[in-house]
Amino acid sequence: MKPLQTQKIGKKLEYAFISIILIASLILGYNYYKSYSFKNNDIPDSYKKRIADKEQEVLQHMQRNFGFVFKVPLIVTDKFKGRLYGLTSYRDGEIKVYLNKKVMQESMDYMIESVIAHEYAHALMFKLGYLYENDDGHSKTWQQTCIKLGGKDCQKYVDRQEIIMSKMPFQ
Ligand SMILES: [Zn+2]
Repeated sequence: MKPLQTQKIGKKLEYAFISIILIASLILGYNYYKSYSFKNNDIPDSYKKRIADKEQEVLQHMQRNFGFVFKVPLIVTDKFKGRLYGLTSYRDGEIKVYLNKKVMQESMDYMIESVIAHEYAHALMFKLGYLYENDDGHSKTWQQTCIKLGGKDCQKYVDRQEIIMSKMPFQ
């Protein structure tokens, strides 16, 4: 009687083991699929909505604190080289903000809470004529602008050149 019981438990354990492996493979496969599909498709609608909502919020702050609304194109792109979150470009009077799609999946909260207001502050500084400042554009005025736009983290990013006055680095 005893050996049979042990055998039964052994079988049960074996099944449990197999299902754990199966579940793990499924999760692995699903994660792989998720990151594959994220890389190869447009960003999900939920991401687009979060970005658009945040932009609205920034623009409301702008209206309240500066008395006008200046909307810039927010472009999500995977053409960034390196791990920059965002970038503001000023070229021939045209101001654009680029957001790095490559870091979005892992850093979406940071993108929303910090990066969008940060870059929008650069864009607004350009608009207001602060074009040739020191500090890579991260001056005291920029910082105040960032705070006025509702930015949570208005510190300059260390070692991150993300003000581009000429050609885009990825074009
Ligand atoms: Zn910056």
